[in-house]
This record gives sequence, structure tokens and C-alpha cells, in this order.
Amino acid sequence: MTSRAKKYTLDDMDTFLKNVIDTALKSAKNAMERNEIPVAAVIFSPESEKIIAIASNRTEQDHDPTAHAEILAVRSASALLRQTRLTDYDMYVTLEPCPMCATAISFARLRRLYFGAYDVKGGGVDHGCRVYRNQTNLYTPEVYGGIAQTRCEELLSSFFKTLRGNDR
Ligand SMILES: [Zn+2]
Repeated sequence: MTSRAKKYTLDDMDTFLKNVIDTALKSAKNAMERNEIPVAAVIFSPESEKIIAIASNRTEQDHDPTAHAEILAVRSASALLRQTRLTDYDMYVTLEPCPMCATAISFARLRRLYFGAYDVKGGGVDHGCRVYRNQTNLYTPEVYGGIAQTRCEELLSSFFKTLRGNDR
């Protein structure tokens, strides 16, 4: 069981996983165009090389503070499969999950969690309350942080730069 993010480089990855990352980044860019914080999550099976859910933040659009990409992706995958446990599936998300999403990922029993950028302020995996290291946490996915980190960070920083620009 791992609660700390492992080092994992893009060179270690197969074409399918790279495709998953590209899909997530595209979806995150789409969120940015809707004036949402550009974060997206993809749930997939590495065995069948199938993507079963893609979601990006919709908190503004839905007026829903819980409409984070990871929550929406878990809901969508669970509804599609008609099951509450996603044990055969992995998630890639462009930003370290917050405590709410880290908990939802645990509830969904996702096998692996890959994330892009680290979130020092809002993250709940490697920062803050570190959900998976908590004694009350019942299930911990395998965690790989910093996957395509630079691309995810660039997208987030360009969004926040634009926001600051609009304030002037
Ligand atoms: Zn979240």
C-alpha cells in the first residue's frame, strides 16, 4: 500500500497512458474556455485500453461547489458500469486531488491514481490532511504524482494569469 506519490516519468509510460494524458489535458483546456479552473479527470482501463469517463470542472457552470472533475468522472463511470466499485480502473487527473476528491477516489476503490501538478494549497494526497495516510482511511489506491506535471502546471498558471489580468 502506498500513500506517498511515487516518482514516475513519461518515459515509463506506454502509448495508451500518454493518450489518456492528452485526453485529460484537452478536457482541462475545454474547462478553461468555460471559465472553470482547468482540471480534468479520466477514468480508464489499462488492460482493455478503454477510457470510460472524461470530466472537467463544472463548479461555476453547475453552481455546485462539489462539481470537481474527479467527482464527476467517478459518478459517470459508476453510472455507466452500474457499479459502485471501480477496482479494475485507474484515474488520471491533471491536478493533485483535494481532500474531498481523494476520499471519493478511495470510496470508488479506484486501483491507481495518477496526477499531474502538485497542489500545495488545496491538495489532499501529498499535502494538507494527506487523506490516504489517515488512520480512518479504509482504502488507498496506488499513487503516482507529477505525471506530465509541467503541461498541467502551465495550463493552470495561464488560467490564473488571465484571471489576474481581468481584474485590472
Ligand atoms: Zn476536488
